[in-house]
Amino acid sequence: MKKLLFASAALAPLLFLASPIHAAPTPDRVEAMRDAALKDDLAWEITEGLTTEVGARPAGTEAEARARDWAVAKLKTLGFANVRVETFDMPVWVRGEEKAEIVAPFPQKLAVTALGNSGATSPEGLSAEVIGFDSLADLEVASATSVKGKIVFVSHGMVATQDGSGYGYYGGVRRAGPSIAARKGAVAIVIRSIGTDYHRNPHTGVQRWADGVTPIPAGALSLPDADQLQRILKRGKPVTMRLTLTPRNIGTQQSGNVIAEVPGRDPKAGIVLVGGHLDSWDLATGAIDDATGVAITTAAAKRIMEAGKPLRTIRVVWFGAEEVGLFGGLDYLARHKDEKHAVIAESDLGADRIFRFDSKVSAEALPVVAEIAQALAPLGIVKGPTDRAGGSDIGPLSASGVPTFELAQDATRYFDYHHTPDDTLDKVDPEQLRQNVAAWTAMLAIAANAPVEFGPVPPTPSR
Ligand code: ZN
Ligand code: ZN
Repeated sequence: MKKLLFASAALAPLLFLASPIHAAPTPDRVEAMRDAALKDDLAWEITEGLTTEVGARPAGTEAEARARDWAVAKLKTLGFANVRVETFDMPVWVRGEEKAEIVAPFPQKLAVTALGNSGATSPEGLSAEVIGFDSLADLEVASATSVKGKIVFVSHGMVATQDGSGYGYYGGVRRAGPSIAARKGAVAIVIRSIGTDYHRNPHTGVQRWADGVTPIPAGALSLPDADQLQRILKRGKPVTMRLTLTPRNIGTQQSGNVIAEVPGRDPKAGIVLVGGHLDSWDLATGAIDDATGVAITTAAAKRIMEAGKPLRTIRVVWFGAEEVGLFGGLDYLARHKDEKHAVIAESDLGADRIFRFDSKVSAEALPVVAEIAQALAPLGIVKGPTDRAGGSDIGPLSASGVPTFELAQDATRYFDYHHTPDDTLDKVDPEQLRQNVAAWTAMLAIAANAPVEFGPVPPTPSR
């Protein structure tokens, strides 16, 4: 007994140096944290609270300001440090009335919604002949004389994929189609929604006018209505549509990023930035786009906070004004580009299960990537590429050469609801949401404590 006491007294200074608070968590500890997160309720609580108590959060509006207040109160209550809002100004566009109908040859109504930054018709609407194209490429090569004075319709159908890559490809119709149509003299454009469901919900989304282009009314039809218009056009008779879209630009308004931190032990080790976006489209409560993104990352950061002070500061950002053009991400880059970001990651593809772990890191960091991949494997997550990873709001920072992780979610059903009135809380599966929190917790536990540099990585050309 005496001997044992002596032994522990002699070990005491060593134990102090290797105190659990000051060491990276062991694989067993990471495993335990990951598995405890499979019972997480906080991500659901945040998603449910934000969508219920605030609802839709269009960028630059009073509703987004209320969402920032909600976020600040919540993050403070959860015990985060340095909770603050960084505001910025931005131009704001708001939806008006929206109606579309076939006047001839087969009079009937179609389900339409305006795309972000759409121009407006008069309150009575405009009537013109419809010219249809199967793809953006077909519109690009069409002569201006064939398009002039008409309503352009582009019916480029998006296909659902697990990694959501269909959105980038087919989304070109929404992003570039309106400017191309306007340049060729079209009076308006309607596109097949960039979505994968067959409900009569058109999908909105942002588009920006190319330099020198005068805005025209630009809308999206639901998929069943796009099919219907295609069938009507195939009958070969001239088709006349009446389109009424009355959105308005309400000038410069304020938006902002909400920031909170779990302070780390060593400021020189850099910041691990995680988050999602706080704003949503106006059509729904933005449950999967992107209340769940801020909820998942915040819930995981909270778990790291409770496990003891990490080596690196974890900074959680609830970005503002993502939907309408990444204003929050760009403002963050402008303010914080000179700070050391060790690694960054974003959750913005819904709340279905994570299936792959992608990274963009230096060769020296690959053993840590392997360690994270090993911790994620029991959740059904595979190791993805180590030379590419991204996210919307973090895109500008990532492109500047900051090491990036991506926990890729299964997007197979995401684009059924994305940017429609159907993006509501009931679409969130609590079990899959917990798998997300568990994956983020394991990743953060390792990334916030690993004594390695994740960079440098070369900058990539911005998209
Ligand atoms: Zn989003
Ligand atoms: Zn979105």
